[in-house]
Amino acid sequence: MTSSTALDGSTPVEVQDLRKTYGHVVAVDGVDLTVETGDVYGYLGPNGAGKTTTLRMVLGLIRRDGGEVRLFGRDPAQGPAALAGVAGFVESPTFYPYLSGRENLALLGTLDGGASAPWIDECLDRVGLLDRARDRVGGYSLGMRQRLGIAASLMRKPALLVLDEPANGLDPAGIRDMRRLISELPEQGVTVLYSSHLLAEVEDVCNRVAILNAGRVAFEGGLDELRASFGETTRIVTPDVARTAEIAAAIGITTAKVEGDAVWIDATTRRVDALTLALGSAGIPIRTLSHERRSLEDLFFQLTEDAP
Ligand code: ATP
Repeated sequence: MTSSTALDGSTPVEVQDLRKTYGHVVAVDGVDLTVETGDVYGYLGPNGAGKTTTLRMVLGLIRRDGGEVRLFGRDPAQGPAALAGVAGFVESPTFYPYLSGRENLALLGTLDGGASAPWIDECLDRVGLLDRARDRVGGYSLGMRQRLGIAASLMRKPALLVLDEPANGLDPAGIRDMRRLISELPEQGVTVLYSSHLLAEVEDVCNRVAILNAGRVAFEGGLDELRASFGETTRIVTPDVARTAEIAAAIGITTAKVEGDAVWIDATTRRVDALTLALGSAGIPIRTLSHERRSLEDLFFQLTEDAP
């Protein structure tokens, strides 16, 4: 759908049928996304799925080949004025290494028309860098530089923050800090769209996700929806796994997998009921029958493993 009448001015991000091709590589192949106010929206995908290319087009940094993008109803391709209220970075943020964190932010503030010292310190505080504000950025860790990048974005008082893999390269403590920082942003009035291939990272932070596979969205929606659609699997422990798998196949369950003394199946409750009755009739004992929740990571692999 490319009708601009369907695009609504109050929505932070609306993307419809977005496309980008580099030579013979179709990097983004008809992507639709909607990020609502207050979302922390995870844009997930394996390496090369097209995340960065999408975010570049969302921020108007590269030309799109097709489709529509609106940020609060404005087309970012129209130039900087259309990016009012939007901040973020697609590449890792760069700073002057010989200046302190505070001096770097002051310099950036000057380019943006000036930022007061208390406001700069508040932004540093929000990303947990106030106590290191006087230290030279050259001595900052990667995680601290990423957080300084977010502070630089927050200085512009954005309503929407777009971040490309902000946790990339961070150690577990850095990932935890980044996750906490991002999860606090909606209560400060900032909607967040960020990309990641670190699935465990988004599970606690994002209320909505899109999973990208080879330039196409394989799933878009809430994490609860994702789990409800794909997230449960049934484990049957039995002394006769081979016949259990055969009987499952005979009643139309095509997903049975034998692992040790258990058979795993993906099937509706009704089918699982039918299987338990069939096993009973065949005299095959069921020692345990349990529903196991799949991790988001398992779901991600399921949705992306058939990448061409
Ligand atoms: P990663 O997690 O590795 O950063 P990604 O999901 O961000 O991956 P993109 O960087 O958007 O993926 O790349 C998508 C595809 O487009 C890849 O096949 C990539 O090689 C190709 N691509 C991206 N930018 C360019 C470019 N400037 N010129 C040519 N091909 C490009």
